[in-house]
Amino acid sequence: MALRPGNYIDGAWEAGTGSGDGITVLDSASATVVETLRPAGADQLERAVAAARRAQREWSAVPVPERVAFLRRLADRLAAREDELAAVMSKEVGSTLAFSRSVQVGLSIATIRGTADALAELPLDERVDNVTVVREPVGVVGAITPWNYPIYQVVAKLAPALAAGCAIVVKPSQVAPLSSVLLFEEIEALGLPAGTANLLTGTGRVIGEALVAHPDVDMISFTGSTEAGARIAATAAATVKRVALELGGKSASVVLDDADVARSVRGTLGSCFSNGGQTCSALTRLVVPRSLQTEVEAEIRAAVAEVVVGDPSDPRTVVGPMASAEQRETVNSYIELGLSEGARLLAGGISDDPGGRSGGGGYYVTPTVLTDVKSGMRVAQEEIFGPVLVVIPVDDTEEAVEVANDSEYGLSGAVWSGDEDRAVAVARRIRTGQVAVNGGAFSARAPFGGVKKSGNGRELGRYGLEEYFEYKAIRL
Ligand code: NAD
Repeated sequence: MALRPGNYIDGAWEAGTGSGDGITVLDSASATVVETLRPAGADQLERAVAAARRAQREWSAVPVPERVAFLRRLADRLAAREDELAAVMSKEVGSTLAFSRSVQVGLSIATIRGTADALAELPLDERVDNVTVVREPVGVVGAITPWNYPIYQVVAKLAPALAAGCAIVVKPSQVAPLSSVLLFEEIEALGLPAGTANLLTGTGRVIGEALVAHPDVDMISFTGSTEAGARIAATAAATVKRVALELGGKSASVVLDDADVARSVRGTLGSCFSNGGQTCSALTRLVVPRSLQTEVEAEIRAAVAEVVVGDPSDPRTVVGPMASAEQRETVNSYIELGLSEGARLLAGGISDDPGGRSGGGGYYVTPTVLTDVKSGMRVAQEEIFGPVLVVIPVDDTEEAVEVANDSEYGLSGAVWSGDEDRAVAVARRIRTGQVAVNGGAFSARAPFGGVKKSGNGRELGRYGLEEYFEYKAIRL
């Protein structure tokens, strides 16, 4: 594909100056090369941070209504380029085209619009007693993002950072950087002051670490694995910068004994298998009362039998390929591990030819459900990041809550019940950043983020915007 080079620095596109191998982006459905980019070099990181530092002063003086208008125009421009963006992310990640359109692009647009609305409504000055509390931009933000929702995760940081009057240096995942190049083409077209938004394509170890350690970067907003997040927090501590972390998850879906079984099973599988299971907030542990286990298992078998694994561009496909060969290996090794730990295979399993697709060379796996899983098993504790659901039977609601909270993660969750009040009471006892009651829909204006090893800080809407301000108290 004809594409700009992977770096946008101080208002100009540049090929990377970094040494070592190029960054090769593969088509998940065919394992063929889509594009190879030269990685950014240390000199480019220096120039990007210096440009951001300089531009931040100019950008923060731009009046709020103009910043709101910039965000709204960016959202409109992405909407106009929906097909192209969706096709690129379908290749980078393996998302089905339909999902790429509705979620990868759709949620990105909703996130930018939600941020614009939040900025329009937020008072930048507030009065407390004799004090004027002023919201001031944090300064220069470094954003580091993963591959599974490549532009959504960038705009969940870029939109509020720019809204608050910060400048930003974005380092997207080296697995899926192409959609960010398209995003930055649209940012370029809007004519921000040069240096306000910069893009560096590089690896975590080189560009990511240098961005985190840089003394002129005031804040790092990171989304990715818990392991990398912990390392980033430690590195950032040396310069005492602000750090926001959106990390992994192992979210529980708790079915109460009065729940609609079909609805709860199908809702859970829909979440678990969405984006091929490559979703941090996916519901991956189904906690069911033993009294309903047989009925739940029958429903799971029927529902999984309907799941079409295949080419992401085929509209019938529900689960496309994994993003990479590494991801496919991880998923298959966890299925094997679960069986060796004593889980029973309810649906799926390891196949030589998932969905009849492996001849095509893509990174396909078979959507799988393991049952009779105990909460202490590794398959119930570790993030698999693929279409694998574990079913954990429990005796009662107390045990269900205990199992739901028996995780080092705390990102999301679900409760299903015929009685909404009862479900909400259980939702309040689950220690996570979000809980869906009876399939309650995701909102791009409500706070998203985790507790425990799922991270800290919140993204989206007013809550995400607040992360990019410092408060100054002027005593009068
Ligand atoms: P990853 O942690 O390997 O990489 C994420 C990003 O960090 C990449 O851009 C990478 O280059 C960079 N990076 C890696 N090590 C770094 C370091 N030491 N210093 C600086 N940068 C570094 O994660 P991934 O494999 O790309 O994504 C999958 C993970 O992301 C999963 O664990 C998933 O749960 C998590 N995730 C979390 C959320 C959330 O909002 N909580 C959303 C999506 C994904």
